[in-house]
Amino acid sequence: MKNIYVIGVGLIGGSLAIDIKKNNPEAVIHGIGRNENTLDEALALKLIDKKATLEDLDQADLVIVSIPVDATVNLLPKVLDNISDNGLVVDVGSTKLDICKVVENHPKRRNFLAMHPIAGTEYSGPSAAIGGLFVGKTNIVCEVEKTTFKLQEKALKLFTEIGMRIRYMNPEAHDKHIAYVSHLSHISSFMLGKTVIEKEKNERDIFDMAGSGFASTVRLAKSSPEMWTPIFKQNKTNVIETLEEYINNLTRFKDLMKGDDFEAIFNEMKQTNHIKEILNGIN
Ligand code: NAP
Repeated sequence: MKNIYVIGVGLIGGSLAIDIKKNNPEAVIHGIGRNENTLDEALALKLIDKKATLEDLDQADLVIVSIPVDATVNLLPKVLDNISDNGLVVDVGSTKLDICKVVENHPKRRNFLAMHPIAGTEYSGPSAAIGGLFVGKTNIVCEVEKTTFKLQEKALKLFTEIGMRIRYMNPEAHDKHIAYVSHLSHISSFMLGKTVIEKEKNERDIFDMAGSGFASTVRLAKSSPEMWTPIFKQNKTNVIETLEEYINNLTRFKDLMKGDDFEAIFNEMKQTNHIKEILNGIN
């Protein structure tokens, strides 16, 4: 893979660029974006070797689309329009159904592989990109059978080499499960942050009194609204379902408190401690 194009050189696009370049020093990483300043920053940080435009994509061996999921739905058909017969296009969007649907009848559908690397941080932009982000993490691949076998193999080699485990799932199942383990966590973190900020008007008090429990639970509330709003919009039905179940659990907890049923509260927490065994091995 000589010519690699990254559309959206932020946290995920930039981190992929670092790891892929490390394993393939001969590769030339081209950056494409809507803002010249972002691309200049990516150049200065050496995430990319050159700036490029969509018109250059016929030269690409690999295109990584790493922009917010609504922008991906708009741009992906145009990217496929411009790709050569041997070019591979992957996206890294956190939702999969709308993205897979928008290209389902595209003449170059077999050049596209839909993926979601389950790795990230709460930071964004080129300066957030870090090497080794994907080591030991899962890459969910959707509708693999719709991609040319030769390009599937290339992609799987590339992503296995940067340390990822590959897991296959259909887009519907991906969006349903990810609503629970990722989208709900972000909403609960944002709303926890909001509740504390509204109540504790004195920011110094929050800083002084909030222990690491608060800091770790509210970490995701630092995430980019520009990236998360389109995710919630695309996965609205599943996210609402998770919210209803979560709100039911919160209401039950409040009712147990009101009823002084601390034995039931103890048991709720004891049963949930099982999460330790489930998450054992995830850092
Ligand atoms: P990010 O750090 O904000 O990077 C996004 C990049 O896209 C930036 O270079 C941004 O540059 C550009 N961009 C933003 N809006 C755009 C638009 N409308 N059209 C074209 N370019 C645009 O975000 P990220 O965390 O890397 O997320 C990128 C993708 O990865 C998203 O699809 C997200 O769902 C997915 N993902 C994220 C995580 C995570 O934890 N963050 C994990 C897995 C997958 P400018 O704003 O300067 O144009």
